[in-house]
Amino acid sequence: MTSAGENVQPELDGMPARLFSATPTRLDMWLSCPRKYRMNYLDSPKLPKGPPRAATTMGIAVHNALKDWWKLELAARTPDSGGSLVRANWRDDGFRDDEQSQGALARAVAWVQGYLSRVNPEFEPRGVERTVSFTTDHLSLQGRVDRIDERGDELVIVDYKTGRHPLNEAEAASSLALAIYASGAERTLRKTCVQVELHHLPTGEVQVHRHTPESRVRHIARADQIGLEAATAQREFKKNPEELDLIFPPTPSSLCGYCDFAQHCDAFTGTPALPWAGIDLTE
Ligand code: SF4
Repeated sequence: MTSAGENVQPELDGMPARLFSATPTRLDMWLSCPRKYRMNYLDSPKLPKGPPRAATTMGIAVHNALKDWWKLELAARTPDSGGSLVRANWRDDGFRDDEQSQGALARAVAWVQGYLSRVNPEFEPRGVERTVSFTTDHLSLQGRVDRIDERGDELVIVDYKTGRHPLNEAEAASSLALAIYASGAERTLRKTCVQVELHHLPTGEVQVHRHTPESRVRHIARADQIGLEAATAQREFKKNPEELDLIFPPTPSSLCGYCDFAQHCDAFTGTPALPWAGIDLTE
């Protein structure tokens, strides 16, 4: 059974269309593969996903540790306490065995300790895992920001990254999610927000981009267009459920091996990536 989901509103004659609820993750998934979007957000009952992935486990533990660190008393905000929080948040999900999990844990602890040695614990963020939201012509957009700093008269978006590959400034500039967070922070907290930053935990590098009014407008217009496409597809699907493969076509790519729904997708003919693929334990 497949349904068109809850967040698409029926259009009534003479009534303005209701806003479509979306997050950066939802928009990204629509862009990357409409079939995956359908399986993830619309199918009912939900299809079982593939196994948990070690890289995701590492990312969650690091994000949770960095979130919990700001809840500690000031005197307790040390790099070592950050490492302890990684251990407290650690799970073995997705690792080949205990030895691999412990190796990854040691690496994640080192990332967080190194990162926090360069963070001023007295500089309270304006928000941690803060939900921000705003509306566009067709969307009600919301997202949760890892950290929002208040520096001078501005808010700054901080997004933690734990992937293997180093990042660059162009990725901060082109990120739809970061632009949405900046617009959402500005509207939600009523303060200018043009600077977005990617903080790469494995290397300690920070990629900074300052949006112009024009670049923000471009990103938000693009988000609006993507959301409109997804909303239109969902409405179409309600009218013609038998056309699901036309409305939500698969988009095979090199990332299919990592797709949570690869086992249900006839467009994928390869072998799913091992659950611990994508983590680098060589250093
Ligand atoms: S396996 Fe590839 S084509 Fe199939 S749903 Fe996943 S991402 Fe889309």
